[in-house]
Amino acid sequence: MNNTITVRCPTCGHEWWQDLSQAQTQRVIYRGDQKQTRVEVYVFTCPQDGTKVAVEVEREA
Ligand SMILES: [Zn+2]
Repeated sequence: MNNTITVRCPTCGHEWWQDLSQAQTQRVIYRGDQKQTRVEVYVFTCPQDGTKVAVEVEREA
């Protein structure tokens, strides 16, 4: 499973890679008619300007 994602800062446009296995999940929500989609929310900090960037990662439950 590929756990690396691209994060884009909405303030300065900086893009960087984050390894999700090194990150802590902020919260988990469930979507879909049967709540079949597990969505993990991560919050990362832009290394350029410190903007907090929330990223949602969908997982099949
Ligand atoms: Zn930024």
